[in-house]
Amino acid sequence: MPETRTVAVPDIGEFQDVDVVELLVSPGDRIALEDPLITLESDKASMDVPSPFEGVVRELVVSVGDQVSEGDPICVLEVTEGAMAAPREARSSAPQAPRGNAELGDALRTEVLVLGAGPGGYTAAFRAADLGKQVVLVERYPALGGVCLNVGCIPSKALLHMAEVIEEAAAIREHGIDFGEPRIDLERVRARKDEVVGALTRGLASLAQQRRVRVLTGEGRFVGPHEIEVEGEDGTQRVRFEHAIVAAGSRAVELPGLPEDPRILDSTSALELEGVPERLLVVGGGIVGLEMATVYAAFGARVSVVELLDGLMVGADRDLVRPLQRRLKERLEAIWLATRVEAVEAREDALHVKLAGKGAPGSAAFDRVLVAVGRRPNGDRIGAEAAGLQLDERGFLTVDHQLRSNVAHIFAIGDVVGEPMLAHKATHEGKTAAEVIAGLPASFDARAIPSVAYTDPEVAWTGLTEEAAAQQGTAVRKAVFPWSASGRALGIGRPEGLTKLLFSEESGQLVGAGIVGPGAGDLIAEANLALEMGADALDLGMTIHPHPTLSETLGFAAELAAGTITDLLPPKKRA
Ligand SMILES: Cc1cc2nc3c(=O)[nH]c(=O)nc-3n(C[C@H](O)[C@H](O)[C@H](O)COP(=O)(O)OP(=O)(O)OC[C@H]3O[C@@H](n4cnc5c(N)ncnc54)[C@H](O)[C@@H]3O)c2cc1C
Repeated sequence: MPETRTVAVPDIGEFQDVDVVELLVSPGDRIALEDPLITLESDKASMDVPSPFEGVVRELVVSVGDQVSEGDPICVLEVTEGAMAAPREARSSAPQAPRGNAELGDALRTEVLVLGAGPGGYTAAFRAADLGKQVVLVERYPALGGVCLNVGCIPSKALLHMAEVIEEAAAIREHGIDFGEPRIDLERVRARKDEVVGALTRGLASLAQQRRVRVLTGEGRFVGPHEIEVEGEDGTQRVRFEHAIVAAGSRAVELPGLPEDPRILDSTSALELEGVPERLLVVGGGIVGLEMATVYAAFGARVSVVELLDGLMVGADRDLVRPLQRRLKERLEAIWLATRVEAVEAREDALHVKLAGKGAPGSAAFDRVLVAVGRRPNGDRIGAEAAGLQLDERGFLTVDHQLRSNVAHIFAIGDVVGEPMLAHKATHEGKTAAEVIAGLPASFDARAIPSVAYTDPEVAWTGLTEEAAAQQGTAVRKAVFPWSASGRALGIGRPEGLTKLLFSEESGQLVGAGIVGPGAGDLIAEANLALEMGADALDLGMTIHPHPTLSETLGFAAELAAGTITDLLPPKKRA
């Protein structure tokens, strides 16, 4: 007599009452172990429920449109004799039955091993799995997503959005609308930020599970060119691989000589937002430092910024930084440029900071000091030497245009291979590495990688900067459209912005762009596309931009370059 089994919804993490959106089997179908039975969809992700048994479907107990939770019956199966397997958990963060990974003694074998599950690593793992590879993804933290999702891009932007709303509400007083002073519930603020991060990391875990990417939680170190050891809570697991992709990311640079004191923060602890200090010193006037200064100033801290170099956000053209610097001067207590932090003394009343530089006081007291002086690659912590991997003098793994390291079957991507340390660079490199491993003719040949500071105003640039063009001796034609001539910018009270386009004198093509103003980070995408497509001023100027939008400023800047502008006097009439 054949045995029948009722298959129930497995552990699907924190999801409840999830919609059944598709039935993938019908009564009478013969199915194999792990064949998908139904598709569930929550507001975060969709997932297939695999069959824990081989057999024949006798009855479906659910219909499309039903809502189900863990333990609810899905179907009744007549199980093939001797084909019973232990039902598999569907919790995405748990190690999963891998597609074809075979355990050999105590070593696991896989085609592709990815070390690090930040934007670079998870993208590489998912792309490799989609191209038919068996993949093991090693991550030391239980949540996937790396720095960007957990302690970088995403939580900082959630807080920056709140800062923006506070600033906008204050600014609109001048337009006759007064919301009063903000009342800030820090606990709710933290919870909201954590909700955003949680939604994304859970989504990733679910995507890994659906692709049957096996996630190993633990610290990975190479022990040979084809083997890695993963030390996790449950012991050590060896994994043998045919190809590896190193995506181990980066960590914050520490200032030498600082005392051990919980009042000294890095970007990770600053994002925890344990409290809002009365006086905060941000050491470092780069993107991360200025974004955090923006958040804490909006939340009510008196923020000072100290920068060793002679300008904020070095790397961006000065005309783009100027409007930001003007606004920061109004919002912050002080900005000290060309100033060195000589020492920090942790006293009970405050952190006393010795400063040396033009215009800076010799010393000043702060309740917190946030150190944001850059990031360094993690290539020195992965047993690189055991695999034969080469690091350059700054600690970056060296790779070619296909992201292949000096060891032919090991690839490396993201922050661990060099600047710019940006999530979107890491993801594109991750795809390239996976595609090369899968035998596709891929290479990383992006013409430009945009940079964005999500400050107020935002600053974004891509391709050549004016400074770099001058240094390289590349002749460019510059067109700058001031936002004071944009109806939309005036409407939102932000005339200080500008949009700058740089065209090659030789080819006429766009070679660089920079924007400062609200939304610059979104607006730069069009310039980046134009740059990738080799567009010239006519292409951009003749593209119809919706009116009235800030995107028109790109079209207007191109019209300036083409001499066809009507919203301003064309350059030759002004001369
Ligand atoms: C505050 C802040 C804000 C940022 N904002 C932005 C932004 O707005 N936009 C943007 O593009 N970029 C931003 N960045 C940069 C961005 O976070 C990084 O460029 C990006 O995360 C790099 O991705 P990655 O995959 O190379 O490495 P990571 O995200 O660093 O991921 C590496 C992963 O590898 C794991 N790992 C390392 N070594 C091991 C090991 N031995 N064993 C197991 N696991 C290991 C780590 O735990 C980590 O999860 C920000 C960074 C910070 C700090």
